[in-house]
Amino acid sequence: MHNVLAASNHVEPEEVGRRNKTKQICCSRLHARFQHVHRQQAVGAKPFFCFEHPASAHSWKRAAVQEIMNHPDVTCTSFDQCRTGLTCPETGRPIKKRTTLMSNAPGVPLQFRPLQCHCSVPHVRIQGSSCGVRLSTYCQIYTPELCDHLAAACERTLHS
Ligand SMILES: [Zn+2]
Repeated sequence: MHNVLAASNHVEPEEVGRRNKTKQICCSRLHARFQHVHRQQAVGAKPFFCFEHPASAHSWKRAAVQEIMNHPDVTCTSFDQCRTGLTCPETGRPIKKRTTLMSNAPGVPLQFRPLQCHCSVPHVRIQGSSCGVRLSTYCQIYTPELCDHLAAACERTLHS
């Protein structure tokens, strides 16, 4: 076990670094896309937002969040991150991490509603560490596939 972790530790920072860089690139792409949306809607502007949290998070029960959630323009869409390429760095098995997006952007439910788990293999639970990294921390980093879905949601919102 020690050898596996030691060997994996050598690779893991590169993988986290790669995914962090991808997230930064995608975030700047998303930011640019949303700036474009804002320019498009300069007259009678309606800024879009998207709030992401685990589906089981306590924040969904907070009054301030529920107030936004109950707005007629806002939808909550839950999806499974095993459908966006989230896997255990050690075993490659899928990690479900059911996640909810709260947004007033119409492209978000269109893009994410279909992403429901249909795995035929068991999921890895988000507990403890894998390859020397806490799995809960590892799973906070968006996969490139998740970034692509977010960018697609922006595109669909722009053209809706
Ligand atoms: Zn799954």
